[in-house]
Parts: sequence; C-alpha cells; structure tokens
Amino acid sequence: MEFTAITTMVNTMEFTTEVEEALRISEVVFETNEAIMITDAHANIIRVNQAFLDTTGYNSIEVIGRNPRMMNSGRHDKAFYIEMWQQLLHTGLWSGEILDKRKNGEIYPKLAKITAVKNEQQQTTHYVAVFSDLSERKRSEEEIRHLAFYDALTNLPNRHLFLDRFRAALSNASRLNNFGAILFIDLDRFKIINDTLGHDYGDLVLIEVAARLKSCVREMDTVARLGDDEFVVMIENVSENEDDTSRKVGLVAEKIRALLASPYHFNGNRYLSSTSIGVSLYGGNEKSVDVLLQHADMAMYQAKSAGRNSIRFFDPVMQNKVAAHAALESDLRQAIAQQQLHLHYQLQVDSNHRPMGAEALLRWDHPERGLVLPDVFIPIAEESTLILEIGHWVMDTACKQLALWAENNQTRNLTLAVNVSAKQFAIPSFVDSVADVLKAHQVNPSRLKLELTESVMLEDMTATVEKMHALKALGVGLAMDDFGIGYSSLSYLKQLPLDQLKIDQSFVQGITKDGSDAMLVQTIIDLAANFNLNVIAEGVETQAQLTFLKHHECMSFQGFLFGKALPLNEFERLFHRIVNELTGAFRILKPGI
Ligand code: C2E
Ligand code: MG
Ligand code: MG
Repeated sequence: MEFTAITTMVNTMEFTTEVEEALRISEVVFETNEAIMITDAHANIIRVNQAFLDTTGYNSIEVIGRNPRMMNSGRHDKAFYIEMWQQLLHTGLWSGEILDKRKNGEIYPKLAKITAVKNEQQQTTHYVAVFSDLSERKRSEEEIRHLAFYDALTNLPNRHLFLDRFRAALSNASRLNNFGAILFIDLDRFKIINDTLGHDYGDLVLIEVAARLKSCVREMDTVARLGDDEFVVMIENVSENEDDTSRKVGLVAEKIRALLASPYHFNGNRYLSSTSIGVSLYGGNEKSVDVLLQHADMAMYQAKSAGRNSIRFFDPVMQNKVAAHAALESDLRQAIAQQQLHLHYQLQVDSNHRPMGAEALLRWDHPERGLVLPDVFIPIAEESTLILEIGHWVMDTACKQLALWAENNQTRNLTLAVNVSAKQFAIPSFVDSVADVLKAHQVNPSRLKLELTESVMLEDMTATVEKMHALKALGVGLAMDDFGIGYSSLSYLKQLPLDQLKIDQSFVQGITKDGSDAMLVQTIIDLAANFNLNVIAEGVETQAQLTFLKHHECMSFQGFLFGKALPLNEFERLFHRIVNELTGAFRILKPGI
C-alpha cells in the first residue's frame, strides 16, 4: 500500500471515530430529563425521547409522522400560534410557557424552547423542541400561595386575602352604587373550651364554626378567619338601598347567631357556645377598609358588653362616644402636670349636726369642657395606670390639707375621707405609699379615712384582708363606701377590719318612696350595730330622710342637706359658720343652710 493511501485510510478511520463519538454523546444528551421532540421542516414529528413519552403519555408509534398540533390544549387562541410561528420563521427560536394536553386529556403547563435547525443554505431542515413539565412547580407555587392566603386549620381565607377581597368589594360597591356589609364574629368565652376540653377539641369547634358560617351565606360571599376565634363574613352586593341592606344583613346575622349557638358534638362531648356579632355596612360613603373594620370591631365589643350571644350594628353615636373617651383620656394624662385637678370637700356631720370631717371628692377643671365630675373620668383613669398617679395625688393633697387643719384648734379634729379605687388598693405597695404620705406630712393617721368599695373583694381576698389589717395597724380608718349595691356577700364583713359602713345614696334617696329601700337601710343600720361598726348615710337631701335615719339610729350624715362638695375656701367658710352658730349662741342649727 502506498503511503498516501495509508494516510487517507488512517484519516478516514479517525473521522469515523469522531463521528461515532459525537453520535454517542448526542444520544446520551438526547435522553435527558427534558422532553425532546424533533420534527422535519413541515413540522411532522420524526423523533422523540423517553422523557417526551413519559410526559405526554403517548408511545412513539402514536406520534411519529404526526403534527404536534395533536397535543394542543385548546387553551390558546389562533393568534398565539401565529405569533409563535412568525417568531420561529424570523429568528429561528421561540421560547415560552404553553399549555398542552396529555394523551389522557389532562392539560398541563410546560416551558418550551423550539429551535430551527438550518443547513448550509440556511434552509430549515428540522425543528427541535425541548420542554419541561411545569405542573409540579405550579402545584407547589399554588400550595405556597394557599398557605399565604388561607388559614391552615379551617381552609378559610386568612386576614391577608380577606383584606384584598374587602378592598375589591369596596371599589365595586362604589362603582355599582350599592351596599354590602362585614360581620365581625367572635366566639364567646372560647378560651374556656381550650382550657377545659383541650386545644384539639377547640380546633374541632373552629372547623365546625367555619362550616356553619359558610352554610349561612351565598357562594359569592367571603367567610374568613382573622385569627384565634375571630371570623369575618363579607356580604357583597346586598342592595342599592341602605335600609334594605341593613334589614337583609340583620337577617343573615341572626341566622349565623342562631346556628352558631346550636350544640356542638365531638368525641361524645356536647358543647354549647355563643357568638357576639358586630356589623358594619359599607358603600355609599368614602370610608376606608381600616375604618370599616374598626367599626365592625367596635360593634362586636358592644355586642359582648350587651351580654354576649347578640348582634350589634355599628352606630355613629357609639363611635362619637369612643372618640370622646379617647380624647378625654389623652387630656387626663396632662391634668396633674397642668394642675387641673382639685379636691372638693363635702361635710360629714354627727347626729347633732356637728361637723366631724369631710369627704375629699376629686374635680377636674378641663380647659375647654369646664368642670368634669369623677363619675366621668375616674372610670377612664381606671382603664390604665393613670388611676395610680391620680390616686397618689389625691392622697398627697388630702394629707397636706390634714396637716394644715392640724395647725388650727377648730379644725384639728376633722377627719378626711379619701376614696380609693380598687385598682389602686390592689397594687402591692399601696400600704407603704399611704404610710409614706402620712409621714411626709406628719399627719395623725386617725384623721385619715379610706373609703373602699366592695369591688376590692374581687381581688385576692387574703391579700385584701392582710392589707386592711396593715392599714389599721398604721392607725388609718376604713369605710366601706356605697354599701349595699356591691357583691352582697355579707360573709366578708366579719373578715374585714372595717370602722364604718357608708349606706349608698340610692337607698337613702329611696327611703321615703320605696318600702324595700327603707327596709334595706334599716337592715344595714342593724347589721352595722351587730358588727360593731359605725354607720354613715350619704346622699341625705331631705328632712324626711334625716328623720327616718335618726329614728333608726343612724348617727352620721353626708348630703346636700348639710352641704354640697365645695372648693376648699367655701368649705372652710361653711364649716366656720356652722361651728360659730353651734358654739356662739343658743340657736339651734337648722340643717340645709
Ligand atoms: P362617692 O364616694 O360615693 O361620693 C359621693 C358622691 O355623691 C359624690 O359625687 C357627691 O358629690 C355625691 N353626693 C353627695 N351628697 C349628695 C346628695 O345629697 N345628693 C346627690 N344626688 N349626690 C350627693 P361625686 O363627687 O361626683 O363623686 C362620684 C364618685 O366618684 C364618688 O362616689 C367616688 O366613687 C368617685 N370619686 C370621687 N373622688 C374620687 C377620688 O379621689 N378617687 C377615687 N378613686 N374615686 C373618687
Ligand atoms: Mg366615697
Ligand atoms: Mg358613695
């Protein structure tokens, strides 16, 4: 063999090996996880790989020679395919998401890339389509979306999704000029189920509540769980008339209330529950999502405080009250620093109408509202720790006054009664703070009388009794204010080291009108005598009341008949006038002056 012939043969052999190698590699590449389909220039399928067969469900005989059109899902319009082909013809490449149909009819999303294969003359000889099945990824994306927008326990929309829908509903309502409503639903005392029957049982109740709620509304309405035992129902598109909406929504709310109040049966347990429902209508106004939610929430709290198992519609009067309350609280925070608080003094007299002392009653000189009475602002102060600051200011001011009275012969024996809120009494340092104030002003403790109410009994009884003994040990007097209207357990009377019962003014004022009030007052006086307690009647306004009280041996009095609560200088003027009248002449003091 000639040398050149040998060289050619060797070269051909090398070429053949390279081609074979390339073919082997492309065979391996061809059988990847991605589906591959090769068509001729007329889009007839000529080859597919195993992944293609697995994804589509066909076997190769069924697809070879056919047009890929056979896998169309029918979900894309003609324009979609025209655009795809135009791009392929112009650029030789198309990629994107497409919905196709498997052999079993299932429609699935896939990510496809189609490439035109061209020969040396730039003519398309083949198309190669590579695609991956997106259904798994879409499913997990959907699952993640579900987790983000739905409550895992009840499968109801969560707060996030509810807010989205509510926003959309509000703009629909203003566009369509109609009304809808949201209902805030809170299970009454749900915590008790969890605490007594366990969280698993609580979960079953919540799932059942979700199902019952759904059964009360239309498919188009939204039932969502906002958290814990709080649900919300949104009823869209109810009517174009507000009154009509309100009436219809009222019926749905009642249906919900009644259905949620019917018994729950799980694990052999029968459980009765109830709900409080707050309703806020929307549409026809420019209210925001937040404001409307707040309204429904406020209405729900109204339903709760109305004794639960009830429905309340949001009412602007109620909202004004809440707003006024908030404004008052914020003003009250400044009141001490701005020296707007004052004490008024109301005379307390004995059976000869001789002044024994006074009750210190708080007044607030509001810069705009004028005089605000304690019945208005004390409950607000009691909702926060403000009452502690105010209570301390009262105690300090009262003791300062006692110290001043101690310097004068005529006033040195006066006692001063100070009202103590149950919340103030409950703080562990209360006794120490009283001792500190007494010491700071060098006050004789027996001149100070603390008026407690029966609500101190609601706190830890042992601690209450201990504290009262500690106060007695300081030498301070203790009175039970508003006696008779509180918790009516007389057994506490023998446990508490009280000095005085103060008959509530409502009974005193009923003495001459209402037989049972008269009987009650008489009973309280007897009770006090039996327990060796002093008794004082408050709210004495008329001579007839006074006569009755004296007749039944009540010996101390406070009320408008003797004097109203007065600013210090007026109180002192009244006091000196009475003392002068009593000591200066043979005149008999006429009450009511
Ligand atoms: P309270 O301790 O039972 O005070 C008696 C209330 O009855 C006072 O109202 C007094 O002005 C009023 N009153 C007295 N005599 C008569 C009468 O003959 N007829 C009528 N109709 N009313 C009479 P005020 O000053 O408005 O106080 C209301 C309540 O506010 C007090 O009831 C007390 O519970 C609370 N309070 C007042 N000052 C303080 C305080 O410094 N601290 C705390 N924690 N509460 C206070
Ligand atoms: Mg009082
Ligand atoms: Mg009272």
